Amino acid sequence: MGILDKTKPIRFFLKIPPSNEETCEIHRHIGELPCPWPQCEKGIEDETIIGMYQFGIRKEHRFERKRWQSHDGEDRFSWIDLSLPIHSMSSKIIKEEVRRSLGVDPPFPNAIYHYTNIQGLHGIINSKEFWLTDHSYMNDSREIEYGLDIIRAAVKDLSSNPKYSEKLPIIGKWEKILDSRESYRICIACFSLEGDSLSQWRGYGGRSIGICLGFSVESAMFWHFLGLNLQRVIYDKEKQFAIAKIILHIYLTIIEWTQQKGMDVDEDIFGSSLITNLYQQLVFFKNPAFSDEKEVRWVYTEDKKMFPDDDALAPKHFRLDPNILVPYVTSTDVINMFKAKGFPVGNAQSKLLPLQEVIVGPQENEDLVRKSISEYLNEKGYGFVKVRNSEVPFRPKQSR
Ligand SMILES: [Zn+2]
Repeated sequence: MGILDKTKPIRFFLKIPPSNEETCEIHRHIGELPCPWPQCEKGIEDETIIGMYQFGIRKEHRFERKRWQSHDGEDRFSWIDLSLPIHSMSSKIIKEEVRRSLGVDPPFPNAIYHYTNIQGLHGIINSKEFWLTDHSYMNDSREIEYGLDIIRAAVKDLSSNPKYSEKLPIIGKWEKILDSRESYRICIACFSLEGDSLSQWRGYGGRSIGICLGFSVESAMFWHFLGLNLQRVIYDKEKQFAIAKIILHIYLTIIEWTQQKGMDVDEDIFGSSLITNLYQQLVFFKNPAFSDEKEVRWVYTEDKKMFPDDDALAPKHFRLDPNILVPYVTSTDVINMFKAKGFPVGNAQSKLLPLQEVIVGPQENEDLVRKSISEYLNEKGYGFVKVRNSEVPFRPKQSR
């Protein structure tokens, strides 16, 4: 930059919550700022720009272009918000880098399906909300263990790479945090890309009738909230491993940025932020043996260190299942929490859930079940929802 370059930085308007839209397909840049690649036609020459928020106390944020290197040594660029702690930008950097390195998921179909029973249907329609279950209480605790093993393998891979030899003390500490099993609040609602699927109905039988609820994925409810993420489950082990390595590499990179600025690295904060990011991904890792389920998860993550004030967190509810008190959060509470923090929640607070279709699982008296559901939905304002029987033929359970 020359001496003449004394003009004020250019301003860009920013949304709250931040936009999830990809604005440069080549560099997978997300959001309202120009693409951070200096040579990109969607980019900008200026090294510093201003982002203007419409809400909040600090409306003006100064961003600086940062050049860094990917895990395999390629040039990358990001805008760094100088008024925020560096670790708070990690989620976006990770998200963009995962998309750059591993490609982008195909778009969602029109609907995603939630498999439940008649009690579940009644609960969801009656309360007009989804319940997101605390992940550590989910059916299969081995699931989280599976994801942790992938991350441990990635940590090992990094520590045996001479490129990271100077970082070994930090990496060693991460291994300890991973083993400490400190609990992070991550709550999940499960869906499938497939309605009326034989493999899903298999989980039901006997006296419990399977019911499948199809929800419009376009609904504002599923999108545009900080801390909420709707994503396909990843069953590809190599992809899981690659994602874990990307996250670890980005954390080593941002720690380096902090040190370059002569600032102290608060290992507690960085460690906690890293673990949150790892958990945010590992809840989408599943054993390839389950790929039939074609699962989609709606995940709420709470980073307590970001919001140390308890009032700012989503209230904890408990349900009985049948011998355990299972903690969960409701979609209503999460939306209200963001509203209370001053975020515009728009039409996510709709009076009805984005229900499109109900499928009654294969069983003996499905016509009567279907009739009762139609009558109930009609009464609750969902007269437009199609209720149908499963096309999978009913086969009574064999007694052995
Ligand atoms: Zn670009």
